[in-house]
Amino acid sequence: MRSPIPDYLLEVLDSCGADAGAVADYIPELAAANPERFGICVATVDGAVYAAGDADVEFTIQSMSKPFTYALALADRGVAGMDERVGVEPSGEAFNEISLDPETGRPRNAMINAGALLTHSLVDGEDAAARSQRVLAGFSRFAGRDLVVDESAFSSEFASAHRNLGMAHLLKASGVLECDPVEVVEGYTRQCSITVSCRDLAMMAATLANAGTHPLTQERLLSRPVVRQVMSVMMTCGMYDAAGDWMTDVGIPAKSGVSGGVIGALPGQVGVAVFSPRLDTHGSSVRGVRVFERLSGDMGMHLMDVAQEGRSALRGSYVSEGEDAVTVYEMQGDLRFSGAETVVRAIAEADHTTTRVALDLTRVYRLHDVGRRMLLECVRRLELDGRGVLVIDPEHTLPPAGSSDGLHVVDSLEEVVARGTDPGRTSP
Ligand code: GLN
Repeated sequence: MRSPIPDYLLEVLDSCGADAGAVADYIPELAAANPERFGICVATVDGAVYAAGDADVEFTIQSMSKPFTYALALADRGVAGMDERVGVEPSGEAFNEISLDPETGRPRNAMINAGALLTHSLVDGEDAAARSQRVLAGFSRFAGRDLVVDESAFSSEFASAHRNLGMAHLLKASGVLECDPVEVVEGYTRQCSITVSCRDLAMMAATLANAGTHPLTQERLLSRPVVRQVMSVMMTCGMYDAAGDWMTDVGIPAKSGVSGGVIGALPGQVGVAVFSPRLDTHGSSVRGVRVFERLSGDMGMHLMDVAQEGRSALRGSYVSEGEDAVTVYEMQGDLRFSGAETVVRAIAEADHTTTRVALDLTRVYRLHDVGRRMLLECVRRLELDGRGVLVIDPEHTLPPAGSSDGLHVVDSLEEVVARGTDPGRTSP
């Protein structure tokens, strides 16, 4: 069978292709972009890649670089270290607004230029060249291939970067920027001039969606707390002064760039990149925004389209047949607080008629730490009540790393039934 997904993506491009907006012209190289280009790529967290249209055409990454540089700086300085220097509040202002929080003197967030300039300066590296190298190497690992800087795009922007230079001088004057302002604008402009395709960007976004592990190379590139911070700031600040509209209409952590790209990273699912150079008044691709609205609606990608996780975590419970009966609680899916709570509640409210209870995790594919702690506490309390507890867990999901002490883990219900004697069997 031929997958229907590429055909669906072609249809999306077709239906979102109407002309509107204008290419960015404040950077001479961007003014020369072919406005007709239109491409899309979707990369899943398990490494499947679907592309349509101009998905392999390269363009400069521009502001879509900001979340990734922020990620590198967070990895280098820690979340608390970055919070002291760059805020996390949406500014409600345009990307190039010369703005600092009057109370703290910090840029409001890392997605607007003021914050992105400071963030670039906070990436590890003993000098400007080393910082630029760290950024290029880091982005290459997120993309899964060696990326390069478009030198002519860099020169074209740097020669007229007066506004960004003004901002960097302001950051220096207010005491928040430690290095030389001109060097920082140079490094930041170089960062914005790294060339990528939709395919690269979808991979980079999928690395965020996959909690920091690259879907294809399987390299762990970022820690979970860093990814959470980056995606939170993308969600609240990534679309600048259109952040509220984006949240309500699309609901995917995202970032746009003036070259015409828009990326989105949907936690646990996909990275998406769209490219089409004509921009709206916020500096985001008109067709890019349209495509995201369409995908979010069609594919149920809005983050606030809440999964009914709690209700579906307990698949059912039953008492096994035979004289050595066991009450079995069958769980499923991704167990977080609300899911584990339904299991805990069912166990707490039950009038057990058997001396043995089994927790069946065969269908649980992910156990969040809170889910693990709650289930382990259930085991402990059931045992205090004098019941034998068995854990049906062929993948060993429940035992905490490095210790399954005291847990009676078996592979299947048959094994539970067969186990007529201790462990896991307590006399009434
Ligand atoms: N390099 C561009 C700038 O700093 C990036 C802006 C953008 O993509 N929104 O102006």
